[in-house]
Amino acid sequence: MKVKILGCSGSEAIGHNPPGFLVNDVVMLDAGTITAALSIQAQSRITDIFISHTHLDHIKSLLFLADNVIGRIQQPVNIRAIPKVIDAIKKHLMNDLIWPDFTKIPTAKNPVLAYKPFPAGVPITVAGLKVLAIPMNHPVPAVGFMVSDARSTIIYSADTGPNEGLWKVASKSKNLKAIIVDTSFPNSLDMIAGLSGHFTPAQLHADLTKAKVKSTVPIYIYHIKPVHKKKVISELRALGRKNVKVLQEGKTYNF
Ligand SMILES: [Zn+2]
Ligand SMILES: [Zn+2]
Repeated sequence: MKVKILGCSGSEAIGHNPPGFLVNDVVMLDAGTITAALSIQAQSRITDIFISHTHLDHIKSLLFLADNVIGRIQQPVNIRAIPKVIDAIKKHLMNDLIWPDFTKIPTAKNPVLAYKPFPAGVPITVAGLKVLAIPMNHPVPAVGFMVSDARSTIIYSADTGPNEGLWKVASKSKNLKAIIVDTSFPNSLDMIAGLSGHFTPAQLHADLTKAKVKSTVPIYIYHIKPVHKKKVISELRALGRKNVKVLQEGKTYNF
């Protein structure tokens, strides 16, 4: 499974882009970064976009993608998310006020975007990938995704604080090649991390200590806040866990 990291930061700043992962050139996990990182031709190849939750850093590139690929694609790009996320995007984002409703443009019959809600806990198959939405611990309805092909499985937590359910799913996954997990804030901001539904390195360590996940499975950290990056990385290193690495923006991973 080929995964290109278009962005994996917990905010936007020069050299730091919000989350967006391109899987096998055609499927996106989150849409924080698409259009600033891909050619128009590469953008036009995307068929499906899985959205973890409605926070702007995970959806904003949807808007510009719709604009860029209009007239270049034969089929609508499918926006796949749990129903509450789809409803919020409809109501608060592509509502013909903040942005046009691209599920009716250029025509309602053959639009640029199509909403495809699906429930957490029930896997669906898209572009040869099996995708399962897993509920996360975040202040708004949010899921992470377990993505599998015939050979490999990866888990993307999206935004979450401590989460027993995540590790339970991970411990049962076959062919698990990577877990991409949120660690946004340094240990000193424990309270803010708790309020906003993100991990600190110490909280991640506590969860991993309880989890029954093999210590050989790489844990890739994403969503570090750019202003806290140095501190978070040094605290992660201090954990002494060899399988904990920092996800690299712009890199393509073959899992
Ligand atoms: Zn969030
Ligand atoms: Zn986020």
